[in-house]
Amino acid sequence: MSEDKKTIIVSCSGASNTGTTADRVARNLCVDNPDRNDLLCLAAFAIRKQPSIKKLQDADKIVVIEGCPSRCASEILKQGGFASNLVVEMVADYGIKKVMIPVWEEKDVGRIGKDVQERVKRLG
Ligand code: SF4
Repeated sequence: MSEDKKTIIVSCSGASNTGTTADRVARNLCVDNPDRNDLLCLAAFAIRKQPSIKKLQDADKIVVIEGCPSRCASEILKQGGFASNLVVEMVADYGIKKVMIPVWEEKDVGRIGKDVQERVKRLG
């Protein structure tokens, strides 16, 4: 990792349990490692707010945490001209059944957060 650059975490933060889990994982990664990780305001990026664009331009890596196979966050990034270094998704990667209720399980947030950290480390 570059000394002064961070991994930018992008979450879909959707309305379902999977979107909410993705959001909790993303926030915890940033709170637990503020020197290494920083969270993107995806809504600000979607309306082309300059600080969010600059954050992505300055990123060491871009990691996307998606709630479900719709992969909305990746699509928003792509439409804005950015690609990600890693995408994880709650249904296919972690076996969470999607329901349209914004709840989450702490045990899922913990195990997924650890796995995402490992996968980011393997990126080098
Ligand atoms: S990726 Fe799935 S959970 Fe996330 S915002 Fe899109 S539809 Fe909702």
